Parts: sequence; C-alpha cells; structure tokens
Amino acid sequence: SRTRVVVIGAGPAGLTVANILRAASVDCVVLETESREFIEQRPRAGFLEEWVVRALQRRGLADRLLRNTEMHGEFEFRFAGERHRFPYGEMTGNRHFVYPQPLLVTDLVRRYADELGGEIRFGVRDVELHAIDTDRPEVSYTDPDTGERRSIVCEAVAGCDGARGVTRASMPPEHAAVARHDYGVGWLALLAEAPPSNDCVVFGVHSRGFAAHMARSPQVTRYYLECPPGDDPENWPHDRVWSELRTRLSADGARPLAEGPLIEKRVLDMHNYVVEPMSYGRLYLAGDAAHLAAPIAAKGMNLALHDALLLGDALVAHCFKADDSGLRGYSAACLRQVWQYQEFSQWLAEVMHGASSGDPFRAASATARLRRIFESPAAAAAFAELYIGKDIDGGG
Ligand code: FAD
Repeated sequence: SRTRVVVIGAGPAGLTVANILRAASVDCVVLETESREFIEQRPRAGFLEEWVVRALQRRGLADRLLRNTEMHGEFEFRFAGERHRFPYGEMTGNRHFVYPQPLLVTDLVRRYADELGGEIRFGVRDVELHAIDTDRPEVSYTDPDTGERRSIVCEAVAGCDGARGVTRASMPPEHAAVARHDYGVGWLALLAEAPPSNDCVVFGVHSRGFAAHMARSPQVTRYYLECPPGDDPENWPHDRVWSELRTRLSADGARPLAEGPLIEKRVLDMHNYVVEPMSYGRLYLAGDAAHLAAPIAAKGMNLALHDALLLGDALVAHCFKADDSGLRGYSAACLRQVWQYQEFSQWLAEVMHGASSGDPFRAASATARLRRIFESPAAAAAFAELYIGKDIDGGG
C-alpha cells in the first residue's frame, strides 16, 4: 500500500507528529509494536514544561490536560537536614504541568484515531526500513492477525520508536554519530500507590545516595533512589525502600512520607545519548529514538515533543507546499535544544550524585554548586531558566 508518511512508534513523539499530519489532512499510518491498552497504561514521565503545553494547546491537543492538571512552580532540595525551596515559577513566569504520560498518550490516540479517523496498526512485528535514501522509502512489517509480511511505500518515515526501536539502527553508521554519556549510577524508579507527601518535587542529596519525590496524581507518587547500576529491583523489598526514602529525604519540618504499595520498581542505568544528525535520506528520528536524557531533570518527554512539533510542521510544509526547508533544517533545530538540555542534565546530575560519590572533591564541588543557586540571584536566574526550559528556536 501507499501513504505519504509512515510514523513508527505511538509514544508522545509519534502520536504528536501523526496528529499534526492528520489535522492538516496529510495521509499517514502509525505502526506500533504494542497494543493500545498497553501504551495507554505505560507509566513514565509526568512533568510537562509550560512552553510545551502551550504549543500543544495551540494545536488543540491539550484540552483534557488543561482541565486535569496541577501546576508546579517550586521544588525543594533537602540536604544536611535542611529544606531549601526554589521558586522557579515566580522567577520565570513559567510552570510545570503535572500530567502522567499515559494520560497524554491516551488523549493523543483518541484525538488522532477516534476523532480524526487516523490509522494506527497495533501489535506489528519485525518492522524494517528499506530504500530510505531514495524518494520512495518503504516500511515492511509482519501483520499480527495474519502473520503475513506487508509493506507501505511512502515519501518520508518518522522514526519515533523510542530508545529500543529499530529506526536508529537503519541509519548507516558512517552517517550517524552517537555521542554517549554514562553517569555510572543506577536509579531505582518507583511508583507508589500513595498520595504525594509534599506540595512540590523534592530532591534529597545524601551521602547514602540521591532520592527524589514527584507527584503523579492524588493517589500515585513517583520516587527515585540512587542505587548501583545494574542493581536487581528484588534487592529492594518494601521495607528497605521506605526506610531508605525516609533517611535520604529527611529534613527538619518535613512532612512524614505517606507509604503505600509499590506498583512499579525498576532499575534505570543512568545514561544519555544523542544521534547526530537526526535524519538520513527520508528518515527523520524524533524523541528517544534520537536522544535519551536520563530522568534527571525531567527533560525526556519535553524534548520528544519539541522534536515532534518541528517534524510535524516540516512534513506538512513538504507535503503541501513542496517546501523542504523545514526538513532540511530539522536535525540542526532539534539538536540545539537537545544539547542545552543534555548539558543541564549533566550539571544537575553532579549536584545530585556528588555527595554519594565517595570522592570528597566531587562532594564539596557539588555542595558549592547547590549553595550557589540558593545564594546568588544571578546563578538562580540562570538555573531557573534551564530547569523550566524554553523553546530555544520558537523563543517561547
Ligand atoms: P516512547 O514513549 O518510548 O515511544 C516509542 C514507541 O515506539 C513505544 O510505544 C514503543 O512501544 C514503540 N516501538 C518500539 N519499537 C518499535 C518498533 N520496532 N516498531 C514500532 N513501534 C515500536 N521524561 C520527562 O520529560 N519527565 C519525566 O519525569 C520522565 N520520567 C521518566 C521516568 C522513567 C522511569 C522513564 C523510563 C522515562 C522518563 N522520562 C521522563 C522520559 C520519557 O518517558 C521519554 O522521553 C518519552 O517517553 C519519549 O517519548 P517517545 O515518543 O520518543 O518514545
């Protein structure tokens, strides 16, 4: 069969690209390995930066989000038994919107498939890309119902299949350099069936390791605990998790943590990568397929959406105006934002992990960084701007 654009992956990036195309009446097909039920429940991120929300809103993709979100403009560092609040919302005029990723994915699927009649083929297997360096690229896959191989000829492929997808590997290695950074630590990512224990994000800097608290909903809270990379989640039974969270997040005057059953428990090996350039021939990567940002500064989903907005618009311009300037500039425009966020994540990671590194030089330098943002208004302003983020190219 034929279509104009094949979007591979129905995560936040792929679904946003698909929505933009569909709203402009550009034919496209989304291919997704998982089922609809699965992607609508997969827990992950939860913090959207204000400029991203406004961009989604302008496209009619944020109606339910805006009705059901909570806004945060402060976070709290806890270290040396003290609480230090940082009012970045007041300083920048911008806030985070707390909205769990599965809800955003659900909204985007509904809008694209149910309301606009867009096509998503769920449960596909063995997706392969062919002839991406020609103007008739082709995507083949195995149909889950019949077991037959099918293929779609198109004009462009949006590779939005996340960190474990196949599109990145379809780029010839001599045309795609991968820059990597490994933090050398693991984070135990936890979801607790318990209400948040604070009115904002908490970062706990502690010699036993970093810990964090983030709201997800009135019933569910995300926690992180630094652990050795590759650690087995089974080493973290309920009691150990809560005792370690209480120790690492303790501070004078802090509310006790509301405990609850742990409904997700997985170890993330904290690393980042960036693929450069993000396109080859008629294949354009977006989101985690092109770059991973460990969840240090909650940047991943925001970056994925930044790419998707640019790619969606560039593809529409290609299809309707035969204007390829957006597609030609796509990779460079994304990468400017990606590297700002990568550098910020690395800076913040050292603040979070220095104290537990066992290296007194790193520990003392990390404390100096932390004190600077609470003591110097100029340092605080620069930090706040990067923490809440902005659309560098769009200026918003
Ligand atoms: P994905 O969401 O990974 O979507 C890719 C899709 O492609 C998936 O549906 C997948 O099933 C599908 N797929 C994979 N392979 C194929 C294939 N071969 N063919 C077809 N389809 C395929 N970010 C934040 O901004 N804030 C946070 O607080 C935050 N916390 C996080 C916590 C955790 C524990 C994790 C793991 C991530 C977190 N992130 C956070 C990162 C964020 O979840 C990702 O950056 C975001 O999901 C990227 O979106 P995406 O659309 O690029 O990729």
